[in-house]
Amino acid sequence: MAFDLNKILRPHIAQLKPYSSARDEYSGKEGVFLDANENPFGSITADDFNRYPDPYQFALKTKISAIKDVPVDQIFLGNGSDEAIDLLMRAFCRPGLDNIIILPPTYGMYEVSAEVNDIAIKKVNLTKDFQLRTDAILEAVDENTKIIFICSPNNPSGNKVDREDILKVIKAFDGLVVVDEAYIDFSDEPSFTTELKNHSNLLVMQTFSKAWGLASLRLGMAFASLEITRIINKIKPPYNISGLTQETVLAAIDDTDKMKKMVAEIMEERDFLQQAFEKMDLIKKIYPSHANFLLVEVPAAKKTYDYLIENQIIVRDRSKVVLCNECLRISVGTRAENERLLEALEQCPAELATA
Ligand code: PMP
Repeated sequence: MAFDLNKILRPHIAQLKPYSSARDEYSGKEGVFLDANENPFGSITADDFNRYPDPYQFALKTKISAIKDVPVDQIFLGNGSDEAIDLLMRAFCRPGLDNIIILPPTYGMYEVSAEVNDIAIKKVNLTKDFQLRTDAILEAVDENTKIIFICSPNNPSGNKVDREDILKVIKAFDGLVVVDEAYIDFSDEPSFTTELKNHSNLLVMQTFSKAWGLASLRLGMAFASLEITRIINKIKPPYNISGLTQETVLAAIDDTDKMKKMVAEIMEERDFLQQAFEKMDLIKKIYPSHANFLLVEVPAAKKTYDYLIENQIIVRDRSKVVLCNECLRISVGTRAENERLLEALEQCPAELATA
């Protein structure tokens, strides 16, 4: 279906003149900087943080562009991918009028962000194998549906979503389709960034929070058409990525080998946990995972969760989430952490083994 960005863009955003920051006007490194009301003496810390960072993160995006094979001007960087989710809603969805479609069970922030922005939410549950019900999704679309969020590999189920199904939705929907690939590095599935050139209504999100081990720095990526990227850049807060984050990630990207080693180790540990779970009577079902966590079904999820907390082992109780009855989501830890978890589960009271 033909995608017309102006049809989904909120009219006042199309008209918006973005904030022009001091550093937009002069980007040279040398000079006497009396334009941004900074502290000229340096910082109170050992490192100097007294100057505002590059608002468009050009050096960092240049490096990300090389590893992701996406042009610099089609990359948006956010304070975590959570910032991208929120900005998309604010750019495209009129509060009180428009809606988004989400596919439960899925990542919770799509719903929270929509609620914060007073945007209606249509829910089309995944199948029991956590795949898309493409016909039902497309039937749920109405004239005010602006964004469909697809998470693959999906959180909390861990599976990858069938590629052809995602493409079917992208092709048939005339609004924006977000493919959230936060866990893509733990999967053998190629990224949807290769589809950007074919589909101007596609936006792919990834993050440095998982495979790269940089959750605390808060750096999320969104890859999209030039036009969509321009819009999100236009409405973002001027200095949304700190200088410390930009510099640290810039250096970290050179160490892709270390990232790949950590990912390989996490995948090995995922197999280790899975094999151990298979031998346990307590674990009724293990869902196949393409992520750095496993969704498992136990007879009594809440009780098991509480028992693990008593043992200072914290997992995520997903038993109240649709299609995740009596399920716990367990992040893959180090070998020592995984062994502690297994030991605790093996020693759990008999009452946990029955519903
Ligand atoms: N998408 C998914 C599917 C996630 O699970 C998460 C974090 N748990 C995010 C996005 C947010 O990631 P970030 O740390 O980049 O905000």
